[in-house]
Amino acid sequence: MKDHLVKATAEGVRIYAAVTTDLVNEAIRRHDCHAVAAAALGRTMTGALLLAANLKNQEALTVTLDGHGPLGRVTADATPEGFVRGYVGNPHVDLPQNAQGKIDVGGGVGTDGTVTVTRFTGLRNPVTGSAPLTDGEIADDLTKYLYVSEQTPSSVGLGVLIGHAGDQLACIGAGGFILQPLPDVSDEVLDRLEANLRAVKSVSRMVDEGYDAKGIIAAVLKGFDIHYLTQTELAFRCHCSKQRVSEILLSLGEKDLKSLVEDGHAEACCPFCGERYQFTGEELQAIYDHAMADRRDAQG
Ligand code: ZN
Repeated sequence: MKDHLVKATAEGVRIYAAVTTDLVNEAIRRHDCHAVAAAALGRTMTGALLLAANLKNQEALTVTLDGHGPLGRVTADATPEGFVRGYVGNPHVDLPQNAQGKIDVGGGVGTDGTVTVTRFTGLRNPVTGSAPLTDGEIADDLTKYLYVSEQTPSSVGLGVLIGHAGDQLACIGAGGFILQPLPDVSDEVLDRLEANLRAVKSVSRMVDEGYDAKGIIAAVLKGFDIHYLTQTELAFRCHCSKQRVSEILLSLGEKDLKSLVEDGHAEACCPFCGERYQFTGEELQAIYDHAMADRRDAQG
């Protein structure tokens, strides 16, 4: 089953659901994630794709969880076309399982901080909102963010199952949903929704049992008259280039740049996707000259 996202409506309710197993595996491979990072990044990327699904074409959004936990910052960028990229500050963190015997995502992310969502809408200034973290487990953090910062009552479910393929860490299944009652929804529908959400199995269970996005929607909205709308393929994709990564080098201090030029070679890594770019001595000299010229200009 390829990664995909399905949109549907039902009796005054909007729901998006996604299966993201392959793109989580791509992130694990690119960033060499251990289990806590894999689960945290997988949930964050899935959440970002679900939030991005109601943007217009060419728009994008970034979700960042900054909870001062051992993982550091967890960030994902997503587009409504179904592309996502993301990274975590410290992918090699190992933590004991939490009290429920699960990967301790909340302990990794931490709870002393905020979840921030920035929407790039094509207007000059991006729109940013944030909310305090709830438990660092990401789904409830996003639910609270949507309520506090965007006044949108929602229910977000996210699940990432981590296991092994041979001796490699692997995502066995990942997915999620976001459910939002529309403004004209009736109380009777809200009551049925609440009862459904209490009864439905976890997203992790659903993806483990092989549910596709339609299956997740049918389970969450059991008994509802569901209208399926569009289906979009999802993938991990970064739009970095050697040019963009060279801008990271440009921002280094004079001494560090000078020493790179003297080494005659450097490798710089895109933080979002881990892609490595090689720079020759000549290229480094050009970057050094450019940086120094910019700084002279800045000093007037
Ligand atoms: Zn990249």
